[in-house]
Amino acid sequence: MTRTAPQGAHLIGGDWSTDAPGGTAVSQNPARPDEPVGEYPLGDSGTASDAVGAAVEAQASWRILGFGGRARIMERAAVLFDERADELALMCTMEEGKTLAESRGEAVLAAETFRYQAGLAKTSTERIFPTNNPGETIRTVRAPLGVVGIVTPWNFPILIPVWKIAPALAFGNAVIWKPASNTPLTSVAIARLLGDAGVPAGVLNLILGPGSMGGAVVADERVDGVSFTGSVGVGRQIRDVVTARNGRVQLELGGHNPCIVFGDADLDMAVAAAVGGAMGSTGQKCTATRRIIAVGDIHDELVDRLVAGVQNLVVGDGQAAGVGIGPLVSPGARAEVSEAVAQARSEGAETVAVNGTTPDGPCFYPPTLFVGGTDLTITREEVFGPVSTVMRVDTEDEAFALANDTEFGLSASVFTNDMWKIDRAVHELQAGLIKVNGPTTGSEIHAPFGGEKNSSGHAAREQGDTAQEFFTRTRTAYVKPGRPR
Ligand code: NAP
Ligand code: MG
Repeated sequence: MTRTAPQGAHLIGGDWSTDAPGGTAVSQNPARPDEPVGEYPLGDSGTASDAVGAAVEAQASWRILGFGGRARIMERAAVLFDERADELALMCTMEEGKTLAESRGEAVLAAETFRYQAGLAKTSTERIFPTNNPGETIRTVRAPLGVVGIVTPWNFPILIPVWKIAPALAFGNAVIWKPASNTPLTSVAIARLLGDAGVPAGVLNLILGPGSMGGAVVADERVDGVSFTGSVGVGRQIRDVVTARNGRVQLELGGHNPCIVFGDADLDMAVAAAVGGAMGSTGQKCTATRRIIAVGDIHDELVDRLVAGVQNLVVGDGQAAGVGIGPLVSPGARAEVSEAVAQARSEGAETVAVNGTTPDGPCFYPPTLFVGGTDLTITREEVFGPVSTVMRVDTEDEAFALANDTEFGLSASVFTNDMWKIDRAVHELQAGLIKVNGPTTGSEIHAPFGGEKNSSGHAAREQGDTAQEFFTRTRTAYVKPGRPR
């Protein structure tokens, strides 16, 4: 079968541009190194500046269109995400490597997010207060933040951008989107879809190329706010640049997410959640289960069952039927995981499972399970791959202390049926997302999402009705009638 390679392009002010001051790059399929997905142009800081200019120009009329007009366009986008789910999923799987089912899930949730945010914009976002002056009321109104930069990672190349773009558009902002270099053509497909839905020229701008282009957007005084998901290092850099010029910044960074399994746990549930949470999406989730904390005597049986679970996973090309785990995103990502595993072994981690179905190839890595303690680097630092460690503790206090003993605070889960422990988990786990008898991964698009500590800092939550906190400015108006002449 021959397939015309899709070509990438920037979208600036409604025009597709193949300007390539940085040259041309190839988007690779991590499962099929001999089948490049397509080419795309590399922009530079001038490209980024042009995109910011286009957004500045378009923002006022998008605001004036009002929530109803914007919502109609967003509802059409939702329909298109559903209609094009298979096409988007194939592109996502070709570029990122995850299974078609995982990619399709992103497209369907993207549709749901557009539908939800469009509807939400029609509900009242205002509040009314009484005042001490007769006839006067105080109203808070929400104005758009303005021009926003959106910088996204490759691991959820459809859904993470949509988490940000949908509320940004709903509340009247214009966007400059810099996607990750591993997944440029998935971004092009999304930008094309939004244009087809009727998003006007300049309201959504897409720029392709290196991280430094994201840096140019972030530093641009015309950009009112930046929403970023990615690594801790880049996130801190962005925070410093944006806050220094009094811009607004939202960060979703790494995680080191614990899953506590108590002695009374439903082990079928716990094992499925721990294996899926650790290895699903090839462990390339910010919410992936990095530490499985076994409390007391359940440890040995839990490890035996986790080992079986890891060994039963089917690793392969995400496009192939029956495959549950795809490759890592790139040879570089594989090298990082492989180095971290070697280091763990040299530090004394006990390897208890290595998946045997994993094919050869520059990006495939076998799901691996360790048993070890807090002295291991891998039990403190995020390794973005299908690797997790079981850690044994004896008491409930030790379990909670170990779960919180990390610089991160994105997600945490606990398996128990004891109401006291559940209540303690809900109140004491230092994580933005807490699951009781569920995996550390997965969330619903209408509830707040975000982390604590180094996972998000003090950033406003994404998703749900909390997304508007970032994408709008609250203004407080004191309004009283004048006396008629
Ligand atoms: P990354 O290197 O930080 O890249 C993220 C995005 O930032 C990419 O678009 C990247 O462009 C861009 N970028 C790179 N350098 C930049 C700079 N100096 N200024 C502005 N933008 C810059 O992260 P990644 O390696 O793609 O993604 C993996 C990380 O994301 C993991 O640490 C993971 O935990 C985290 N993550 C967090 C969440 C969450 O919600 N908390 C969700 C998913 C992933 P290029 O691709 O062109 O370099
Ligand atoms: Mg990177």
